[in-house]
Amino acid sequence: MALNLILFGPPAAGKGTQAKRLVEMRGMIQLSTGDMLRAAIAEGAEIGQRCKTIMDAGHLVPDNIVIALIELKLDEAEQAGGAIFDGFPRTLAQAQALDDMLERRGGRIDQVIRLKVDEDKLIARVTKRFEEQGRPDDNPETFVTRLEAYGAQTAPLLPYYAEQGKLSEIDGMGSVETVAAQIDAILDQ
Ligand code: AMP
Repeated sequence: MALNLILFGPPAAGKGTQAKRLVEMRGMIQLSTGDMLRAAIAEGAEIGQRCKTIMDAGHLVPDNIVIALIELKLDEAEQAGGAIFDGFPRTLAQAQALDDMLERRGGRIDQVIRLKVDEDKLIARVTKRFEEQGRPDDNPETFVTRLEAYGAQTAPLLPYYAEQGKLSEIDGMGSVETVAAQIDAILDQ
């Protein structure tokens, strides 16, 4: 039976790092819409061109684009024994579409793990990432816009998952290992 997990939290909360670790340890696959969009831009795909300006400004790309990107990967995810959704869903429409797509395949979201972080401290984390990796949307001004998008459009999903009894919250400010241990404890329950 496939296990589908959402890693939830603002940008730069550490979702990608934790997802990659789970891929290594558990053989699940990571579905990061941010990575898919960046790959589309790098390949020069038409969809990438349409999204680049929106992403560089720190806004969310249209729901139908990210929903379609995720749907393309769901068969692969099922075969891998489940997916770690990283950076998706980010709106209620995306969450509902995800539930519908999984239901049609006889699956569901099993767990939503929220990495709780101190948003002020994230700015320092991202400034460092910006210097190291140079992602345009990590520059401090754009990052503030991304945090605002999270607060306005994504954080309102928390009650959606809490009401379904799927939401667990952990402290995301510790070391990578400390956060990983908390995630493992939830998944191994
Ligand atoms: P991320 O790497 O997850 O922080 O995503 C980088 C950027 O890609 C975001 O700031 C958005 O512009 C876009 N993006 C990624 N995932 C989504 C999503 N689920 N919904 C809308 N926009 C997204």
